[in-house]
Amino acid sequence: MDQPDTTPAQILRAAVFAARVHATHRRKGASAEPYVNHVLEVARILAENGAPQEAILAGLLHDTVEDSDQDPEPITHERLVAEFGETVARIVAEATDDKSLPKETRKALQVKHAPKKSDAAKMLKLADKISNLRAITAAPPANWEHARRVEYVGWAGRVAVGLKGANPALDALFDATYREAMATLAAEA
Ligand code: ZN
Repeated sequence: MDQPDTTPAQILRAAVFAARVHATHRRKGASAEPYVNHVLEVARILAENGAPQEAILAGLLHDTVEDSDQDPEPITHERLVAEFGETVARIVAEATDDKSLPKETRKALQVKHAPKKSDAAKMLKLADKISNLRAITAAPPANWEHARRVEYVGWAGRVAVGLKGANPALDALFDATYREAMATLAAEA
């Protein structure tokens, strides 16, 4: 590569890559935030809690394969290998659901497979769940009833059980976010 691949340059390259892939994607919340806000938040949570560089890069890229499958040129695992290397691409793959399976199966598999993930993938998936719990609490999708939000938070908690142990700071942040989400939902009931 001609350009120097310093840490900030690499992180910004992944951020720009994700921003382009998600250019037309929006969050499900009522305010329909640009989707890239979510992956930036996930990367920030990882960076602030001492996650390794590969996990931060994978955090920025974690939804590019799953969310580009309808695009004219879907992002493939091979493309991520070519652009960001084997390690980052593998962490993204570990955090990507098999979209050919029904939603309920995918949710059950997330709980089952969580303990078998690499440490970097555990950190990424925990940061993803933290971001999603914040969104479900602060800016829920307009069509999500109270019971559905409670169910989601409970499921995220069950996935998180298998993701813990790789990064104590993230484990603690997840627990605090989970408690806050449950308290907010209880107050709304
Ligand atoms: Zn995500």
